[in-house]
Amino acid sequence: MRLDDQRESSNVEDRRGEGGIGFGGGGGQQAGGFGGMGGLLGLLIPLIGSKFGIVGIIVAFGAVFLLSNMGGGGSPAVAPHASAPTQSAPAPQMAPGSTDQFVAKVLATTEDTWSKLFAASGEKYPAPKLVLFDGSIRSACGSASAASGPFYCPGDQKVYLDTSFFDELHSRFGAPGDFAAAYVIAHEVGHHIQTITGISDEVTKRQKSARSQAEANQWLMRLELQADCYAGVWAANNRNLLDSGDFAEGVRAAQAIGDDTLQKQAQGRVVPDSFTHGSAAQRVRWLTRGFESGNPNACDTFNIPAAQL
Ligand SMILES: [Zn+2]
Repeated sequence: MRLDDQRESSNVEDRRGEGGIGFGGGGGQQAGGFGGMGGLLGLLIPLIGSKFGIVGIIVAFGAVFLLSNMGGGGSPAVAPHASAPTQSAPAPQMAPGSTDQFVAKVLATTEDTWSKLFAASGEKYPAPKLVLFDGSIRSACGSASAASGPFYCPGDQKVYLDTSFFDELHSRFGAPGDFAAAYVIAHEVGHHIQTITGISDEVTKRQKSARSQAEANQWLMRLELQADCYAGVWAANNRNLLDSGDFAEGVRAAQAIGDDTLQKQAQGRVVPDSFTHGSAAQRVRWLTRGFESGNPNACDTFNIPAAQL
């Protein structure tokens, strides 16, 4: 990717070194709490909903949504970095060329992209924060460790990222490259879009009323595939930053973290009913659909038969 001229987002919170603090710090949002966002959401949904072709209504915030991660379930624990627990304040100054700078620049491209898409309908994009962590971290969705992989927490509207996952993408999943790493971030930002448009809530509701675990899994999978599609939309709107071969990196990453790929590696067999993120082929399909259309309206994973996902 060509990010030299990109600005860095100011929405990165560096909380590395915080691991082990755990619960009890006070002031944390209850999982499932929604803060003061109700009014804003009420305003946003009808507008965004019609713009993005979303059929969904606002419902009460439901289950903890730690599962909205990138995949990689069952990954082994990642050893915490040896950083001293002294830095709690955000560190906006980042070393040139560092992973931190890369993350801040990619996050800025997601802000620019979604601001533009929202502005096209006269709406303001409420950008999420991105928390860098190592070891373990406390979020409004509960505690998480690096082994959970990157995730988005709707309760505090933050993306949580342990940058060691980028190394894992390379070493464990065989999907190296800066675009593959950027796709991870864009996917999590996709969950933020789903949260502020009310889609995540709707899926939580449908999961709760599902008649079987397989059906509940499928709702989650549709949500995940849409986040992949949104990542493709982000990529399409940043074609000027892509090197040749970049998108292929993303496709490779999507394949590597497909549920079937991971299950085959972990247990030697594939159980489609247990998929929560989609097969390799499905993830590639929706990432590509977003990339080829550049339009979030092309990302409706909810109103098509399962066989066409
Ligand atoms: Zn996800």
